Amino acid sequence: MTQTDFSTAMWTLAGQGVVNGYAIGKAAVMGAAALEVAHYYIDAEAAEAECTRLHKAMDQAREDLELIAQQLPADAPLEIVPVLEVHRLLLDDPMLRLQSSAYITERLYNAEWALTTQGQNLAAQFEQIEDPYLRERSADIRQVIERVLLILNGQPAVQQELALHAEAQDGGLIVVARDISPADMLRLRKIRFSAFLTDLGGPTSHTAIVARSMNIPAIVGLGDLRRMVRDGDMLIVDGFKGVVIVNPPEAILQEYRKLRAEHLGQREQLAQLRDTPAVTLDGVSIQLEANIELPDEAQAAFEAGADGIGLFRSEFLFMGRSTLPTEQEQFEAYSTVVQAMQGRPVTIRTLDLGSDKTLDGEKTVATNPALGLRAVRYCLTRPELFKTQLRALLRASQFGLVRVLIPMISSMGEVKAVRHALELAEHSLRNEGVKGAFNYELGAMVEVPAIAIAIEPFAQNLDFLSIGTNDLIQYVLAVDRTDAEVAGLYDPMHPAVLRLIAHTINRAENYGKPVSVCGEMAGDAQLTNMLLGLGLRCFSMPASQIALVKQEVLKAHSVALRRKVAAALNRAERVDLQKLN
Ligand code: PEP
Ligand code: MG
Repeated sequence: MTQTDFSTAMWTLAGQGVVNGYAIGKAAVMGAAALEVAHYYIDAEAAEAECTRLHKAMDQAREDLELIAQQLPADAPLEIVPVLEVHRLLLDDPMLRLQSSAYITERLYNAEWALTTQGQNLAAQFEQIEDPYLRERSADIRQVIERVLLILNGQPAVQQELALHAEAQDGGLIVVARDISPADMLRLRKIRFSAFLTDLGGPTSHTAIVARSMNIPAIVGLGDLRRMVRDGDMLIVDGFKGVVIVNPPEAILQEYRKLRAEHLGQREQLAQLRDTPAVTLDGVSIQLEANIELPDEAQAAFEAGADGIGLFRSEFLFMGRSTLPTEQEQFEAYSTVVQAMQGRPVTIRTLDLGSDKTLDGEKTVATNPALGLRAVRYCLTRPELFKTQLRALLRASQFGLVRVLIPMISSMGEVKAVRHALELAEHSLRNEGVKGAFNYELGAMVEVPAIAIAIEPFAQNLDFLSIGTNDLIQYVLAVDRTDAEVAGLYDPMHPAVLRLIAHTINRAENYGKPVSVCGEMAGDAQLTNMLLGLGLRCFSMPASQIALVKQEVLKAHSVALRRKVAAALNRAERVDLQKLN
């Protein structure tokens, strides 16, 4: 995929464009500066917890080293084994562990400060030793400490680094990183960037999803860009083609400035469709709703003409922070969205944590997190946390209809357990004297293939369904949605995926239940005709995509599309988009 030519000033690299658009700016390369250490004093009562935080990070570093040692490739240099062993021993060395803890308990240093202080002491002692072998061990100490600091500081440190970059240069910056976690993407929303480029990641990873909600061009799966590009290099990002151009000459810059201006002009024109109802040529009304990650996006969704919120990913309220949001905080967030939408339906998904979305400080231990204790499974094992969220949702439903959407349902037993949890939450509110009706509906995400196949009881017993194609595709095709190495196998157009979508829509219709698609497919204007042909009548997508999809709807003939798509599905073929669009 790469065409690098380092012999000339300009070179290019291709990955997977996940947010369309063009950006021109300087590279802000996220690298070693992420190890900047925070120095602060802690409260005496927090000392024990701070020691535990440090020891856990050191244990984690040791486990990582053991894993690296076990998985060394056959051709790894021989010297690496003793180096890893020295690093592992250093992590267990009481001189490092106990003395760092003493800095925490006696001087009330934070863990990072305590560790670097003791690390410096030890390194200085080694540097005094005459024996050259032992003298060199000071470098090992520094490396071990960096490893622990990364674990202690990983995510927030990236944000600090980015903030520094943003301060140093005014806008126009293009983030170049190995990977950016969804939580870091949230933090980045506060800083002005014009594009994101990552070495890792797939098209429907949550990092890509947040970039899409920010409407900033993004390319993932660039392989080794971060190592090859230098801080401050001039970059052109072509999100349409998934190409980065490094150090372009003036003529190419001018070409892209023109393209960017044209693209922005087209976007402005499209925005004029805002109040035009989305109706096909043959008179079928289509609902175009918005996906949001945080409450402050609801206003923009309303202004973009969204017919409702089809998916509020509530877990983003819980991420990128060290404490859980209280019931009151959640209630305010949910009611802000309900009120911003002025009577249009609001779908709030209960916590979908796990897989690539984790709470700060909570590390996934599952060997296969996408199949592990995720989403509703996680909530049902944390009844208090779930109850807090359900109470907040019920209270918000007193301001307008709230559709409570449960992620990753795989059995009717889970639906019953959620209903029971809702009853308990309702009961507790009534006991506290809360009066008035709770105005809510209960629905499920269709993202586990099992329920798409055996959809009937879900369509019968729930108020609505929403097809989460991002996960459905990953589970049907056994392709990790976040893994750049298999991104080429992640195929929304696979006939098995399309048949499951068609089946779900068809059965939901039989039971008179509304069904939407809220995965990224819904916001891809190239797929609008195909989804209309599958019978879809409600699409939920990033607000920035609504006008583009509406433009397709206005040109579509639903009956003709249904006929064409049905014929292709009967032959179990990949639908030929050329013939539909
Ligand atoms: C999906 O899986 O399609 C979906 C909308 O949920 P998420 O992307 O948050 O997993
Ligand atoms: Mg999902």
